[in-house]
Order: sequence, then structure tokens, then C-alpha cells
Amino acid sequence: MTIIVTGGAGFIGSNFVFHMLKAHPDYRIVCLDKLTYAGNLSTLEPVMDNPNFRFVKLDICDREGVYKLFEEEKPDIVVNFAAESHVDRSIENPEIFLQTNILGTAVMMDACRKYGIQRYHQVSTDEVYGDLPLDRPDLFFTEETPIHTSSPYSSSKAGADLLVLAYHRTYGLPVTVSRCSNNYGPYHFPEKLIPLMIANALADKPLPVYGKGENVRDWLYVEDHCKAIDLIIHNGKVGEVYNVGGHNEMKNIDIVKLICKELGKPESLITYVTDRKGHDMRYAIDPTKIHNELGWLPETKFADGIKKTIQWYLENQKWWKNIISGEYQDYYKKMYSNR
Ligand code: NAD
Repeated sequence: MTIIVTGGAGFIGSNFVFHMLKAHPDYRIVCLDKLTYAGNLSTLEPVMDNPNFRFVKLDICDREGVYKLFEEEKPDIVVNFAAESHVDRSIENPEIFLQTNILGTAVMMDACRKYGIQRYHQVSTDEVYGDLPLDRPDLFFTEETPIHTSSPYSSSKAGADLLVLAYHRTYGLPVTVSRCSNNYGPYHFPEKLIPLMIANALADKPLPVYGKGENVRDWLYVEDHCKAIDLIIHNGKVGEVYNVGGHNEMKNIDIVKLICKELGKPESLITYVTDRKGHDMRYAIDPTKIHNELGWLPETKFADGIKKTIQWYLENQKWWKNIISGEYQDYYKKMYSNR
């Protein structure tokens, strides 16, 4: 079995590569990644010498390059993680989100049609459902919840999802889609909430929290997400969407306070900054379908997952310090200097 994993030098993709090489030692895993600011080859160092692993630097929008790779590798399965993934960046510059997230998805699926495939899996997000009000804790996103996006990022992901389902209906492409909640864990790029707060707290720098920090997210440990995708690509029904959530809702401000507590840092580091435009209030996933059909449940309690994550950032400071010392600093200053 050969699996092409796009975006495998990013946060969830790399964790998925590690999971698959361990869980299926007889599989060949080919990682295709453009290495944008969010992709980091050093993340994949632990598996670079594994004979079952190959890394290819490639843009999913590069049709010729993608077709050539399919000719060489004859993949059985494609799992598409590659995306521009940061909402704030999509507000600054939507165009690259449309290119990679929609057109790139079309290129990958065209290659699947041309060369034949057992399964194309699209990794999507609960953000395609928009948000839920804070005063209705009884409401959850199901697979039937209408698409109702808020940001250029989520709109581009929703566009891709619709295209994937249309390729199934129109061309009979054997697809599945998963929509998951916020992931956390090792190798998370330090512009995202949890790693940003850990990195800043360790440096005694201000902890920038949007608005009042009341926004609620449903946090899922990345390994649990990888296990869910592993199940879906093997046992999920073709043409179906599966929601993947942690049943673990927390306010952003409570996460930041917890990180302060775990690191022994004062809450006075917390600085409230102007809210994100169109900021979604609450995401909450109902994962009943994947539980009933595939027996998946999140295994990691948040209390354990956050401890493991903090420990990882403490032990791997070289990894994230290298990232935040470069180009990212200019972006960071631009985003937070005037707030
Ligand atoms: P990430 O930003 O950490 O990684 C994205 C990877 O894609 C990077 O390695 C980058 O180099 C690569 N990439 C970007 N454009 C590319 C292109 N044109 N061609 C090839 N590679 C390209 O993202 P992530 O957090 O790991 O998210 C992975 C997927 O999961 C995305 O599709 C995202 O929408 C989805 N998702 C993420 C979360 C989350 O909490 N992180 C939640 C729900 C869904």
C-alpha cells in the first residue's frame, strides 16, 4: 500500500506520517509538501532514513509535477492535508488560500482520476459550519449542519469540500471527507493559540488574547485525529463526511490561564488585543457518526494532552525557536504591534 500524504511537513500531516509509519510498518508513505512558511523539513527528520518514507518538495497546484509523482509512485490512497491554514493570514491575503485550498485540491483529485486510486481523503475543518452561539450549549455541528462560513480560510475549505463531494457524484471518485475541531500537540506552528502562549509565557512575553477570550473551541489531541483518519481511509464509507471532535470545549482564556498555571507564570502576562474580524464564537462537534460507524472515540483527556504538549515544547525548544527567529517575527510584529 502506498499513501501520498500532502502537507506532511506541517503540524497534523507530520503527526499523521509518524502515526502511519508506526501503525502500518508495511506501508510506503510519500510526503508531498511545498514547504511554505508553515512546512518544516526538520519536523520530518525522525523518519527521513526510514526506507518506507519519501519526501518530495512539490506544490499541489503543480499539475505536471503531481502527475509525474503519481506515475512514479502509483499511490493507492491520497490524504490531502496541504492547505493554507491560518485564519488571520486569510484575512490579510485570501488569494493564496483559494489557490492552494481549492485549485490544489482539484489538481490532486484530477491526478487520482487519471491514474486510478482506492481512496482520496480530504482533511477539512469544523469551521465550514460557521459558529454556534455561546448561550446554546445544546447545539452541536453534525454532518448535516449547513455550510455557513465566516472567513476566507473556512470558505476556501468549504469550497474544496464541495468540490470533493462533486467529484464523487460526477466522476465516481472514491472520496471521504473529515471535518475536525481544533487540534493541539507536538509540532504545532507557534502562530496558533496553544504553542504561541507556551512560547511567549516561557519568554515572559505578553500573551495576546483576542477580545475577551470568551471564544470556545473543541480541542482534539492530534494523535487522536490521526487515528480517526487512519480508520476513515480504511473503513469509512465512500462519499461520506465524518465529523471528528474531542467533546472538549474550552474558552480560549481558560486555556491561556491553564498554560500560565502549568508553567508557573503570572496571569498578568495576559494582554487583551482587538478581536479578530468576524471571529467565530463557538465550535462544537457531534462525533456520533464516526463513533457509531467506525468505533472511534478521542482517547486523550485534555488535562493529559496539554501536559504532554507543554512538555514537548519544553523539550524541543530548538524546533520552535528556529521557526520564530526568522520571517515569522516580521509577521508577528505586523499582527500584534498596533493592538
Ligand atoms: P499547517 O499549516 O501546519 O501545515 C500545512 C502544510 O501544508 C505545510 O507543511 C505547508 O508547507 C503545506 N502546504 C501549504 N500549501 C501547499 C501547497 N500548495 N502544496 C503543497 N504543500 C502545501 O496545517 P495543519 O494545522 O497541519 O492543518 C492540516 C490540515 O488540517 C489543513 O487542511 C487544515 O485545514 C486542516 N485542519 C486543521 C486544524 C487544526 O486545528 N490545525 C483543524 C481542522 C482542520
